[in-house]
Amino acid sequence: MDKQNNICAFINCNIIDGKFENDMIKEGVILVENSDGIGKIKSLGNKNEVSIPKDCKIVDLKGKYVLPGLINAHVHLFGDGKPNSPEEVKRTPDENLKYMKSSVGKYLIKETMKKNAMAALHAGVTTFRSVGDPFYYDLEVRDEIKNGAEVGPTMLCAGPMICITGGHGYKFVSEAIDSPWEGRKEVRNHIYNGTDLIKIANTGGVTDSKKIGEAGRAEMTYDEIAAICDEAHRAGYLVASHCQSTKGLKEALRGGVDTIEHGAEMDDEVISLFKHNPNSLRGYSSLTPTFLTIYYISGLSTKYTKLTDIQLANGKIIEKRMISGFKTALKEGIKLALGTDAAMPYVTHYGTWKELKLDVKYGATNEQAIMIATKSNAEILGIDKEVGTLEPGKFADFIAVDGNPVEDLNYLGNPYMVVKSGNILEKTNDYIIPEVEELIKGLDNNL
Ligand SMILES: [Zn+2]
Repeated sequence: MDKQNNICAFINCNIIDGKFENDMIKEGVILVENSDGIGKIKSLGNKNEVSIPKDCKIVDLKGKYVLPGLINAHVHLFGDGKPNSPEEVKRTPDENLKYMKSSVGKYLIKETMKKNAMAALHAGVTTFRSVGDPFYYDLEVRDEIKNGAEVGPTMLCAGPMICITGGHGYKFVSEAIDSPWEGRKEVRNHIYNGTDLIKIANTGGVTDSKKIGEAGRAEMTYDEIAAICDEAHRAGYLVASHCQSTKGLKEALRGGVDTIEHGAEMDDEVISLFKHNPNSLRGYSSLTPTFLTIYYISGLSTKYTKLTDIQLANGKIIEKRMISGFKTALKEGIKLALGTDAAMPYVTHYGTWKELKLDVKYGATNEQAIMIATKSNAEILGIDKEVGTLEPGKFADFIAVDGNPVEDLNYLGNPYMVVKSGNILEKTNDYIIPEVEELIKGLDNNL
């Protein structure tokens, strides 16, 4: 819908401000001031505390529950959750690469990316971070959405990952470096091209593995990681790393990586580096598990995921490691983010809310899961002055749901209303992919 200019009062709602310091605000009012299509929270509180100006637009939320918009710290925009099409599977890797770089390929990939971004927003994900997409297409999509007439999500984009020659994502979603100085040069390239952060792959991954044990193999050397982190931090950029083994964790954290994506078993040195990391940008590092992707990979036949038996076996190894890392992080008070790895087989951009349920399955409370997906994610991504909690001065990014999500996270699955920067999104279910839903129904019931 078009961007608005007005003052708007959202009334008659239960407000979960996301700070979890006080009780939920009953019979709440959120006053939003829109200017040039950007709406910020002017005030919020119980109806007796907030005075509603005359001529103000009123939106009656009919007793719904309002909470901060969800943030997804780990997505890829190039895929919508449907596994590779038969044409893609038939083409050789070189043919696929040629297609992706062609003008038709680029156009179609960018269209998919835009659709995915909007699917996320309509499902209540008001901000997300893309951490590895081909050829900087994500930056183009980010800028086109930002400058477009339609209201879009806030997007933080990494551009392509940085890996070693032959490493995770090589050629398709990663640029290769093979020395510390090549690492520095690639960081400079990324910053010049306008990325919001740097994403590296310091270990191998599941979906392009060809040998058992390749996922999690320490690929990038400590010297390369340290050079990349130093270069990025000099310019104030955070570094995220795809990392799936204890050895990889040690090298990444020692080198200064700020956010560890996926994770693995932690020993004492790893735990202490997460909490106090002298080489990180802010003195600590955080963990982003991505359970949903591994849940579908291990729960569905390779007939559907289009993975090889080796990739499936690697996925099951990584699943155990990720669960172990998350449990340790919860116990030790390591800062946690929430991500889904959307684009992987059956992980849709509108399915982010399910990751909260998996956090709970592995030991978090509902309240903790909500906090990880909102306040904690905002802090980790460095955007907590703008989003993550509902407070005066922050963007009016919130969702209204039918029941109390602290009691039942399922309410997050179908928001009654999504508000992005004060703009009410028109409700639609057009983004739902029926063939994906049909196949994951059983697994989703066991979340
Ligand atoms: Zn990923």
